[in-house]
Amino acid sequence: MSNTPENFKEKIISLCKRRGFIFQSSEIYGGLKSAYDYGPLGVELKRNLMNEWWKSMVHKREDVIGLDASIIMHPKVWEASGHLAGFSDPLVDCLVSKERFRADKAPKLNVEDDITITCNDKGQAKNFQKIIEDRFNILLKREGKQLKGLKLIDEKNFGFFENNNTKPIKTFEYKGYVSPTFGCPFLSEERQFNLMFRSQIGPVDVLGEITTYIRKNKNISSDELRIGIDKLVKKSAVYLRPETAQAMFVQFLNCQQTMSMKIPFGIAQMGKSFRNEITTEHFIFRSCEFEQMEMEFFVEPGTQEKWLDYWVEKRMSWWQKFANHPENFRYRAHDESELAHYAEACYDIEYKYPWGYDELEGVASRTDYDLKKHAEQSGTKLSYFDQQKTDPDTGKNGWRYTPYVIEPAAGATRGLLVYLMDAYTEETVKDAKGNETTRIVMKLHPKLAPIKVAILPLVKKEGLPEIARKLVNELFELGINARYDEQHSIGKRYRRHDEAGTPFCITIDGQTKEDKSVTIRDRDTMKQERIPLVYLKEIIQKKLSEA
Ligand code: ATP
Repeated sequence: MSNTPENFKEKIISLCKRRGFIFQSSEIYGGLKSAYDYGPLGVELKRNLMNEWWKSMVHKREDVIGLDASIIMHPKVWEASGHLAGFSDPLVDCLVSKERFRADKAPKLNVEDDITITCNDKGQAKNFQKIIEDRFNILLKREGKQLKGLKLIDEKNFGFFENNNTKPIKTFEYKGYVSPTFGCPFLSEERQFNLMFRSQIGPVDVLGEITTYIRKNKNISSDELRIGIDKLVKKSAVYLRPETAQAMFVQFLNCQQTMSMKIPFGIAQMGKSFRNEITTEHFIFRSCEFEQMEMEFFVEPGTQEKWLDYWVEKRMSWWQKFANHPENFRYRAHDESELAHYAEACYDIEYKYPWGYDELEGVASRTDYDLKKHAEQSGTKLSYFDQQKTDPDTGKNGWRYTPYVIEPAAGATRGLLVYLMDAYTEETVKDAKGNETTRIVMKLHPKLAPIKVAILPLVKKEGLPEIARKLVNELFELGINARYDEQHSIGKRYRRHDEAGTPFCITIDGQTKEDKSVTIRDRDTMKQERIPLVYLKEIIQKKLSEA
């Protein structure tokens, strides 16, 4: 079967379940939409990935320090950052299919493009044709599962054209995009939707307060009622953080002063974030609960361009380092209209997913927006004094300024998906009988691989399990995640570990007892080598550190 984008994604999802990388959350209850659990292999892969990020961002740099802040923060944080008001995405409904989607993610067309509505099957096409006829008074031409006859006239209008006529019979307002699933241009107005998850803190009985309030205000309008209830809820409302970044701004002074950091320096954090996403899509690519790896790098005003270039380049080479196909990563500069309200420039590091290039990490130049906003709201001076510098305004020695910020913000769970896709390989090989079969192998970078070494006694007797178990324990002592595996034939065990992405399999056989040698099998080349047991640990350590 050839790999269409859809079936490639399905293959990854199926392998993740089969091998214990990722499970649907609460599966036995029918699953929770867009929530996932990282299984025995997934949790290792995610931790390895995040640990590598931490090593490169914090442990291997003198100018970056770490932070692990609480997920629930003071609600004023979100007011200051603009998330409470502005962390909302424009949502649109398709008037024909009822599909709801984010306007900023919808496909855009070029002037003169034909607008073809593509349905799942003929039945649906007939149904949509009728809805459009009833509601908009035009009869689109149906060809199989496609509806035709619409065309984009200019940036603001599309028209219905019959029988190749050059003049439209009827025109409609073009919203700037079409619906993502069907390509339909009949859309509602945009509505704002807050992506933050809200909860209540403390022992307050909000429902009780709301009930009393409604009882007392029977005669007010629905709008007034809504405003009143909103005020009651907001009194004890807290929010799950939608990004890890804000804590680094809020704790800027504490971190800088306790560690005597000099600008430029960064504060890094990784952990869970939550967004009540409308369109959860592509497996773990966009989910409501996910993990981020973010760093705020504080720089002197005027130097931000240089540091933006520096971090874009650094982050790109980090992603590529662990990939089999570095050519599948690219940069994309945001144009003016895409920039967030706080950003003066931004690059996305994108990956070529089966559905096309899409974001993996954003590296933004966030100016001094966040520190200034938090300083204003909290009344705390969030600035930096550089004794060595001259104040450009006064010309005097010593300069107090609000630092500018460069932010590399990556998705850890999205990164995990990228590396699963990058690693997934199908190869045609010959089995023991000489027949061609497909070998599925996860070519995960050894530093990311969940299990580093599998120790396989050829048979479950003759003292081989004892030798194998001793070896596993010795590898544990060295901090190497080894697994003992005696189930099924040796061939099946190799295949299982190929799918798990285990870089090395060690086989203990009869000869091991005689001459104290073992075979080591390389996952990618399938080459087997006989080596003395005494050197094994050293060889494995060397292979893992060289990788
Ligand atoms: P997108 O445009 O894909 O919604 P974003 O630009 O809103 O992402 P940022 O706020 O820049 O994302 O977050 C930084 C990173 O966090 C993203 O590059 C992505 O890797 C990850 N991320 C953001 N939202 C999600 C999500 N819902 N699920 C998984 N990862 C996410």
